Amino acid sequence: MTQREEFLRTIGYGEAAVAQLRRNENAAYPRNYELWYNYCAGFNHALNRAVNDILRSKGRIDTAELSAIYNQHISPSRLSDRIEDVGGRISGEIEGVVAAMSRTMAANANYAGTLSDASSELGAGPNLDRLRGIVGELLVATQETEKVNRELEGQLADSQKQIAELKESLDSLRFESLTDELTTLANRKHFDQSLERAVANADEAGGALSLLITDIDNFKSFNDSFGHQTGDQVLRLVALSVKQAIKSHHLACRYGGEEFAIILPKTSLARAETLAERIRVTVKEKELKKRSTGETLGFITVSIGVATYRPGDTAVSLIERADTALYLAKRAGRNRVCTEKMLTDAEDEG
Ligand code: GH3
Ligand code: MG
Ligand code: MG
Repeated sequence: MTQREEFLRTIGYGEAAVAQLRRNENAAYPRNYELWYNYCAGFNHALNRAVNDILRSKGRIDTAELSAIYNQHISPSRLSDRIEDVGGRISGEIEGVVAAMSRTMAANANYAGTLSDASSELGAGPNLDRLRGIVGELLVATQETEKVNRELEGQLADSQKQIAELKESLDSLRFESLTDELTTLANRKHFDQSLERAVANADEAGGALSLLITDIDNFKSFNDSFGHQTGDQVLRLVALSVKQAIKSHHLACRYGGEEFAIILPKTSLARAETLAERIRVTVKEKELKKRSTGETLGFITVSIGVATYRPGDTAVSLIERADTALYLAKRAGRNRVCTEKMLTDAEDEG
């Protein structure tokens, strides 16, 4: 395709994307533009379906919905593109090393043949001229072999450097694939893997293990009043409060939109409750201010459900009890911590 054709093809998508931004009154941030560009180009069918579903039901799509679709349909594909790129580069390095090694092996085999021929000829008692000839041939063959060996050394040293860099890229991709972009806490995938492991450990070693599920109170109305971007800042702030309250062997995760889960290995129910209480108080004491204007936005609160491992538990049953405790905290008026113990007490009373 010529540059002109490429221009004509893409400018159309760009103009259609801007028209969508206008029609839906979405801010023209690069992320929003990128999403609409993808939509108009029509290559990402799952993305188009997700957008069309919302357009069909509501006629318009807002920034929050756009952001959720972006996270689901654009961010991960970016990551997989990069994984593919690193994978391709690793294969390239391996191919390069293998090719250099086979060249060297062939040159060395050749050299061995030359040495063996020279040896037989020397055994037969050559005349002086032939002797000179043999020495000359050996010299050339030795130099050539040395050259090929040096090339291999160079290639190996270069590859070692490239592979160390590629390993760093892989490590950072792995980290990213397990991290929630907005809050930099562990993401849901990381949570699922870690909780499975923590339950298996508690099962085998018989140690304590507790789980907190934290949900921001009335967050929908906060978003409605102050906007999704400000809501996102609040999510970061709550994530920070959680991070500050926990220890290095605990794992805090973004469990859902405005829900956080904290895995607490080697922690009893009583200690988990104390920690939950510390998180609750830290959050409620932070007065929220809009960064751009300094405007005060008041306070927010969280409700927390606490459960602790029992023999025979699975990740699912443990989450269920923490969730039920959270539900109890919401029903009891929010801004509070409820543990699974209160569930049984409530059942006993009821
Ligand atoms: P409750 O006290 O019962 O938890 O009420 P709530 O309004 O917090 O609960 P609900 O589950 O009805 O709403 C959660 C809201 O969280 C919906 C959505 O507006 C908001 N939310 C979810 N994910 C995000 C996000 O990534 N960013 C922002 N800004 N808001 C989000
Ligand atoms: Mg919720
Ligand atoms: Mg909520």
